[in-house]
Amino acid sequence: MDIPSYLKDTNSFLRAVEDINWRGDLKLVSIDVESLYTRIPHHEGVNAICLVLHRAGKSPAFIDFVREALLFILTHNSFLFNNQWFNQVTGTAMGTPVACTFANIFLAVFESKFILNLGNPYVKYIHTYLRYIDDVFMAWSGSEQEFFDFVDFLNTGERMNMRFPCNFGDKHLEFLDVQLDVVADQIKVSGYRKPTATNALLHYNSAHPDHVKKAVPYGQFVRLRRINDSDESFHKQALELKDRLRLRGYPDTIIKTAYDKATKLDRHQLLHRREVKRNSDRFTFTFDFCPNERNIRKAIQRNWVILERDPELRKVTVNRPMISFKRNPTMRDLLVNSKFSDKKTTWLDREIPKGNFTCHHCNFCRFHLRTRSLNIGGVTTMVEQFISCKTDYVVYVIFCTCRRFYIGKTIRPLYIRFREHHHSITSGKGSQRLIKHIRDAHAGDPNSLTFAGIERVMPKIDGGDRHRELLRREARWILKTEAEGPIGLNDKNDMAVFI
Ligand SMILES: [Zn+2]
Ligand SMILES: [Zn+2]
Repeated sequence: MDIPSYLKDTNSFLRAVEDINWRGDLKLVSIDVESLYTRIPHHEGVNAICLVLHRAGKSPAFIDFVREALLFILTHNSFLFNNQWFNQVTGTAMGTPVACTFANIFLAVFESKFILNLGNPYVKYIHTYLRYIDDVFMAWSGSEQEFFDFVDFLNTGERMNMRFPCNFGDKHLEFLDVQLDVVADQIKVSGYRKPTATNALLHYNSAHPDHVKKAVPYGQFVRLRRINDSDESFHKQALELKDRLRLRGYPDTIIKTAYDKATKLDRHQLLHRREVKRNSDRFTFTFDFCPNERNIRKAIQRNWVILERDPELRKVTVNRPMISFKRNPTMRDLLVNSKFSDKKTTWLDREIPKGNFTCHHCNFCRFHLRTRSLNIGGVTTMVEQFISCKTDYVVYVIFCTCRRFYIGKTIRPLYIRFREHHHSITSGKGSQRLIKHIRDAHAGDPNSLTFAGIERVMPKIDGGDRHRELLRREARWILKTEAEGPIGLNDKNDMAVFI
């Protein structure tokens, strides 16, 4: 659908501003939509999308499918807070990928119905109308009073629950990340940073690919070049940017090279540069970034010929893939959690004993240490849950009579996992340190072993990944007790579960 007001980004706004035929009677104004995402009524929103699809000539079956899918997304929007489940009944969640398109199309239909339409008595004053999602820029030909009357008209009409705060800028306006000034009947643009903006540039010490970090200063200087139409304001803001980059650990050489390169660029060309089309023949090989990604990259490139020679795979792909990385969890992802709980314990919780207990039914009870306190390679700990031979999702320890130990985890009942260890020792197979130790130091006698649970991973209230949590717990205990060290019997641990 063609939305005349649509702005893709700051760039498209700057290009649109260049095209405005400025007149002395015009004023710079902006309005925005208050909490757009949470206010869009479900049915009106879905109707708007269907209308647009209909106009675009889509088939009724397709439109019905989209309607159903959208309603499903909108009405199954639940979240957990403070141990209670909530269902969002109006608006769309910010997190769903469809939210932005949904809001954008909804507003496009809204403005064609209520703003850019003769039903709006003030439409004659709208000289230019541009919108970036929920931020609207206008060149207004009416008076200041008429502008506020127009906003009142929008706000009081009970139009689909929407509210519109506004800003009458006249000859000066801040919009997106630029500021506009009318000087001698011409619009001048320069960069704008909100007074509350923080220095959120990627830190140079961050674990990102080198080329990503090196691209940050250049990208930022180019952006300044683009949003400042005079050299004077560019250089002024570049100085400030240099300081911010230094504070984020960027070496002076990288800053200087990037600045010099950006200074030479021509602003007009930057604004009107055609976007590079992606090479669609090549598919993308995506994986988690890790500091030794170069070796993975090289291995893929070097061994790609194997796939190229394969008669079956050759039909699917021949070209070497592009390499890209998934976004890794940030500190924020790891630290911020809305699933906190202040659940009080009751007398029922107190009744459940803590520690290791035998189940009295399995053949391995005699190996199970009935204890609450454990000393694992000098690290002492108290078991805080009830664990029996039949408990699942446990991190456990196997002790040898000589006090050496092995840390493991299982999602099955503990005794089943121990039975496997027992079996591999009696059969004498395997080269793990644990098996080798019993073979070499205790003549392969499995009776020199005992086991105990250290902790259990409980089911997550939101159905989160319990297995992954178990892996993390296990890795943590391996690290804490130095189970890969001289006293422990673990083989090399894979720390990838932490990232
Ligand atoms: Zn048992
Ligand atoms: Zn031993």
